[in-house]
Amino acid sequence: MGVQAPITPIWKLPDMTELSLQGVAKSFGTFAAVRETDLALQDGRFVCFLGPSGCGKTTLLRLIAGLETPSSGRIMLGGKDITALPAHKRNVGMVFQSLALFPHLNVGQNIAYGMQMAGQDRAASMAKAGELLDLVQLSGYADRAVSALSGGQRQRVAIARALALEPQIFLLDEPLSALDANLREEMQVELRQLQQRLGVTTIMVTHDQSEAMTTADTLVVMNNGKIEQVGAPLEVYQNPANAFVAGFVGSNNLIPGKAQGQTVQALGTRLKCDHAADGDVTLSIRPEHLDITDTPGKNCVEARVEFLRDLGFEVEAFFCVGDERVSIKWVPKGDPDLVQGDVKYLHFPADKIKLHVS
Ligand code: ATP
Repeated sequence: MGVQAPITPIWKLPDMTELSLQGVAKSFGTFAAVRETDLALQDGRFVCFLGPSGCGKTTLLRLIAGLETPSSGRIMLGGKDITALPAHKRNVGMVFQSLALFPHLNVGQNIAYGMQMAGQDRAASMAKAGELLDLVQLSGYADRAVSALSGGQRQRVAIARALALEPQIFLLDEPLSALDANLREEMQVELRQLQQRLGVTTIMVTHDQSEAMTTADTLVVMNNGKIEQVGAPLEVYQNPANAFVAGFVGSNNLIPGKAQGQTVQALGTRLKCDHAADGDVTLSIRPEHLDITDTPGKNCVEARVEFLRDLGFEVEAFFCVGDERVSIKWVPKGDPDLVQGDVKYLHFPADKIKLHVS
């Protein structure tokens, strides 16, 4: 799919679709799947709930959809309290991981089903289904059996079906997880473009940090039922709120240390950093921010090359520093002059070191 000009949305979104969660929590028995959560999401954003398996992303999405009832707190949409509204009255479109298409209905009927259940006549709903198929690049597929579609095409039908009732919010639960890597990347771009064209507030659950980084305007990073950080992808990448986020979003070196002001004792040496902290810390530094030198110097540690790998557009080297392993990545310019077993010095730029208090 090429770059497309913005189009007039096929439906008029309400002026106010801001979603806010106020003290929302959900427990299953004594287990807290989502701890007390406050979150406000602006209109028209593409938001990713990102976190490891079991951290509560899907539960939070289902609470927004009305498929779970919160144990406490309020959910507001466009200024209205929707906490007690059942799912079918929330004006929310959802795509499930399983897609849940109706196998006995063809593509057009799958998309039109919700509209007909909502009382629209058959002709109008089938015409709208045709428009939605155009939108998801499946023009002319209305009469096709869903069993005769590829994985990516099914995905698009599920998206079209979820958009059929012109939702105020569009929710996606790991919608691309069953697709192969290439198709997944293609669909990420399509989803992003579709969302930009429609302007509908979209929340996608994923545990894939690169998917979240490349599709979202806003990342909501979760761990253990709790939101750890909310922010634009680059902001989260550059300024992770804590060691968990530093390690989960993008690759990173996490090294234990003891800080005193702008000095940290780590890797058997004292390193200066712009950032200050006191006590036990986790030092983080991105692999692309370290430099390799042949001679010792300020903020340098001696290290031995343990393993090298070519990632195509960049090279990654793992170094041993005592018991710690430190990864470094760089874009090759000419032949790499490193071999396994080489002893070098790693330079830690003071402005790139982050200290996270344990
Ligand atoms: P994944 O990426 O694996 O889908 P997730 O972050 O979406 O994980 P959730 O599905 O929200 O995680 O689950 C959070 C926790 O709540 C998990 O430990 C899960 O086992 C538990 N949980 C979810 N639904 C229920 C339920 N209906 N009853 C009991 N426990 C549940």
